Amino acid sequence: MSSETPPTDSRATGSSAAGTGVRNREVILKAEDLVKHYPIKKGVLRRTVGHVKAVDGVSFELFKGETLGIVGESGCGKSTLGRLLMRLEDPTSGRTTFNGVDMYSQRGNAMRKLRRDIQIVFQDPYTSLNPRMTVGDIIGEPFDIHPDAVPKAGRRKRVQELLDLVGLNPEHINRYPHQFSGGQRQRIGIARGIALNPKVLICDEPVSALDVSVQAQVVNLLEELQNELGLAYVFIAHDLSVVRHISDRVGVMYLGKLVELGDEDQIYSHPTHPYTQALLSAVPVPDPTLRDKRDQIVLTGDVPSPANPPKGCRFHTRCWKAQDICKTEEPLLVERPDGVSEHTSACHFAEPRQVLG
Ligand code: SF4
Repeated sequence: MSSETPPTDSRATGSSAAGTGVRNREVILKAEDLVKHYPIKKGVLRRTVGHVKAVDGVSFELFKGETLGIVGESGCGKSTLGRLLMRLEDPTSGRTTFNGVDMYSQRGNAMRKLRRDIQIVFQDPYTSLNPRMTVGDIIGEPFDIHPDAVPKAGRRKRVQELLDLVGLNPEHINRYPHQFSGGQRQRIGIARGIALNPKVLICDEPVSALDVSVQAQVVNLLEELQNELGLAYVFIAHDLSVVRHISDRVGVMYLGKLVELGDEDQIYSHPTHPYTQALLSAVPVPDPTLRDKRDQIVLTGDVPSPANPPKGCRFHTRCWKAQDICKTEEPLLVERPDGVSEHTSACHFAEPRQVLG
């Protein structure tokens, strides 16, 4: 048994408001203990032999007009989380409220109304746009589902306004997706996403399929639109530099769970969870002096299967700080006594560590 004693959890508040920039803001979206397990079926009778625990007890709040970045390695459950928030899928358990309304209990018209307020921008601008539809039809498609949003006679004008808003030529309304570059196609996807004046935009890896030179332009566009329209973003990505650039707060996911949540500056300058510290220490640094000084943490071992996550802390099989308690007792996502206020971390031995870069 280790001689180190884990600090006592001070407040069990995985969904607390983090970050100095967002305190006192109004909550627009709230996820409470969201769980999504997919059954694994085998044999001729398709018997359920286990479950993939894609999302396993995630809670957080999203404030009006803020950007909450969600980062983590591939397969950590961040895209499934985005689909649950958009209600493209229903959770196994848990709930999400939008302005206090429980999303998963809404049906028919009530759900359709709710969908207007929460829209999504997908990762791949090459496959998410129908190649046989004109740009005008693609951007105007949400108006077919919500005909009361814009009268039929005014739709073309509205689509042209949207094209202009995302930096595309309104005269190109009759062109097809293949006539645009990757970055322009993602602008079309964003125009479609904001067509109904949503309050929340779920951005699922919106720039990862784009050239690096184009990524910044699309991120800048999202920032401009946020300032202009007051949108809140859940920005899901694996690229920590992009997430840092756009986010007010950041949540780090590992094997279906949030392991750290806090203000962007706290997470990037003084991460307290060993997994976040390892991720950040691997971010490329252009400055060779900083690069040489940096203490890179190399994680050993593969990410365990989400069908059979380790007991206790899910990160213990790869964590260089793991103690006996980590193998048996799951750490809660809570404020740590030695951490910054409202910066939560799911680690028994959380302590800030400066990561250069
Ligand atoms: Fe590592 Fe233990 Fe903290 Fe998990 S709880 S991150 S295993 S030190």
